[in-house]
Amino acid sequence: MPEPETPKPPLTDLARELPASVPFVGPETLERRSGTPFTARLGANESVFGPAPTAIEAMARAAASGWKYGDPENHDLKAALAARLNVPATALTIGEGIDALLGYTVRLFAGQGDSVLTSDGAYPTFLYHVTGFGGQIHKIPYKDDREDLTGLAGAAQRLKPKLVYLANPDNPMGSWWPAADVQALIDALPAGTLLCLDEAYGEFAPEGTLPPLDPDDPRVIRFRTFSKAYGMAGLRIGYTIAHPQIAAAYNKVRLHFGVNRVAQAGALAALAAGDHLKSVLERTAAARTRIGAIAADHGLNALPSATNFVAIDGGRNDTFAKSLLEALGRRGIFVRMPGPAPLNRCIRITVGTEADLNRLAEAFGPALTEAAQDPPAVS
Ligand SMILES: *Cc1c(COP(=O)(O)O)cnc(C)c1O
Repeated sequence: MPEPETPKPPLTDLARELPASVPFVGPETLERRSGTPFTARLGANESVFGPAPTAIEAMARAAASGWKYGDPENHDLKAALAARLNVPATALTIGEGIDALLGYTVRLFAGQGDSVLTSDGAYPTFLYHVTGFGGQIHKIPYKDDREDLTGLAGAAQRLKPKLVYLANPDNPMGSWWPAADVQALIDALPAGTLLCLDEAYGEFAPEGTLPPLDPDDPRVIRFRTFSKAYGMAGLRIGYTIAHPQIAAAYNKVRLHFGVNRVAQAGALAALAAGDHLKSVLERTAAARTRIGAIAADHGLNALPSATNFVAIDGGRNDTFAKSLLEALGRRGIFVRMPGPAPLNRCIRITVGTEADLNRLAEAFGPALTEAAQDPPAVS
């Protein structure tokens, strides 16, 4: 048999060099590996409270029209968002979640060899796209478990990156900065640098966290999503608010039929379901408190959070946090943990239903005991 040949045409130089990594290993993958389903899915920052009942009805109706492509202009949703946010519809771009919109943004602004700046341990999908388009990555460490805004501003002035990425509130730590500090970062950016301000958790944040929307300001793109507070992660729909010239540029690269009809209908109905959102925010806050109490019962500290998850400080190192995560996993509880030190002394637990958190409470003590007995990894 002849040796299998390399594919023709060969991969591009860039594609050949790409790491074969994925930013997230899904809970389904982990379940297939272990052969056991999780009993509490508390690792992906999904909203266990689900979409609003009226959104579910709207989506069920839309499913029957699923033979039609969605409206490529997302006209109705844009109109509703424009009215809600008091911005012109021309400032809005609807996309297949923030993850896709980040990809379009990188494609528009950061080509091969161009510098971008983020924090070491920040939400990884931005860098996944930058790597894919051959950009040059610079990272600033977190400071006191928050993204270091002064550090980012200083590095931006030095490096003059095309893009700076900041999630506020932050994933994976749950921390947040007041609007004034974010605005100071925007004001400190050199000319020619654009801030990607990821507000996936904006709805959960205390008043005064989100800077006022200003689509006349070409220095910042705001990213929002229906995945978190609106409970529609699997539907894949989010949006950006940006200068109309940036919104027009997205039309050159976005998938025009990427957002499906079911998601469009669901998002439109979700926006109108204010009571559901309010109840999700209340139940989320209560569940955060409960997760903090479960940790405190075992002598561990929960970090303050403005999101739908809580980072629990394991009080030791990454080896211990990983052992704890795995011990919880063996007890059916899916959680995740941050990547780099010193953030990786923590585990990150997404808000769950009461039943989920009862399971967590039951599993936490035994999992901690087991993690404490794990032999330390040989380095
Ligand atoms: C969950 C999350 C996203 C993903 O948003 P989608 O709209 O589902 O793609 C983006 N950014 C941050 C910080 C997140 O935590």
